[in-house]
Amino acid sequence: MSQTTSTKKAPVTINTEWLSDCSGCHVAIVDMHEKLLNVLEAIEILHCPVLTDIKDYPKANIGLVSGAIRTEHDRHAAEEMRKSCDVIIAWGSCAVYGGIAGAGIVHSKEEIFDAVYGNNKTTISHNSPTTGISPFEKLVTPIDEVINVDLYLPGCPPHPAFIFDALLSLLEGRAPKATKESVCSRCNRTMVHTDVDKIKKNFEGVAEKENCFLSQGYICLGSVTLDRCMSPCPTNGMMCTGCAGATMQVLTEPNRDIRTEIADRMSKITKISRDDIISEIEYSAKSHYSYTMASKMIGKKPTFLIKKWIANTEAEYE
Ligand code: SF4
Ligand code: SF4
Ligand code: SF4
Repeated sequence: MSQTTSTKKAPVTINTEWLSDCSGCHVAIVDMHEKLLNVLEAIEILHCPVLTDIKDYPKANIGLVSGAIRTEHDRHAAEEMRKSCDVIIAWGSCAVYGGIAGAGIVHSKEEIFDAVYGNNKTTISHNSPTTGISPFEKLVTPIDEVINVDLYLPGCPPHPAFIFDALLSLLEGRAPKATKESVCSRCNRTMVHTDVDKIKKNFEGVAEKENCFLSQGYICLGSVTLDRCMSPCPTNGMMCTGCAGATMQVLTEPNRDIRTEIADRMSKITKISRDDIISEIEYSAKSHYSYTMASKMIGKKPTFLIKKWIANTEAEYE
């Protein structure tokens, strides 16, 4: 029997907003492909930077916020989203942890502008813009330090299956199905004991396909990273760089840290010493902590000393 207009449920209204980010989380909506059609039947998008040209924030049931707070405009937009939406989802690693934008906390504004404009071979004037841009804030801030967040959906971007489930769970009024497993849980490689006694850089040699990267001397962050991606990187020959953010164990236990967890695991299955692994991760800390360093959950850990590690690394080049 066909549904009459009078019995049809009103659509769930949605606002989306992006703050300082790469726009990948918004593009990930399209990656839902035909599943998007299931969701579109039940929702109405009111404000969305890639679909609508609406500057204000209509009242909506759900607000999806991607990106970190880096500028005064970001802060204003986040606050407006909170005022206009019943439920706010921190969408993607930039919103949840500061993400890749958060790596800016280890550089001054002058250094960043110099790298992007002043000394960048792809710009013509080499002058930093002085008008038409929102003032930078001193730090990069995950959104829950500025507004209340109801649901966290990390990932860079989150796999469309997790986005679909998060939206569906809100539409159906249930908890999302997302698990607390690490990237290792879906990786098809096997951790084995080996005699490998040296850490390899990602580009050194060719890793064989069956065994865990850690067993082969490569640093893979899969075991300390939350699975919000279905493990595409290790499955396709690349080490996990941790873009979905740290596992709950690392986030919630003050003395657990990315580098010590990896060092404990890797030193047990290879002949590489724990200290050497810790030193290597500290040496390249800007890469290994790039997605979460702006988050207080990582930044306030007593063991997290990224500015000292970076200073030590830079001193080696002087
Ligand atoms: S989380 Fe990743 S994909 Fe999403 S906006 Fe940030 S950098 Fe882009
Ligand atoms: S550490 Fe990396 S390669 Fe090893 S099992 Fe986990 S995800 Fe796979
Ligand atoms: S495997 Fe690691 S680096 Fe690759 S998408 Fe997943 S979390 Fe990100």
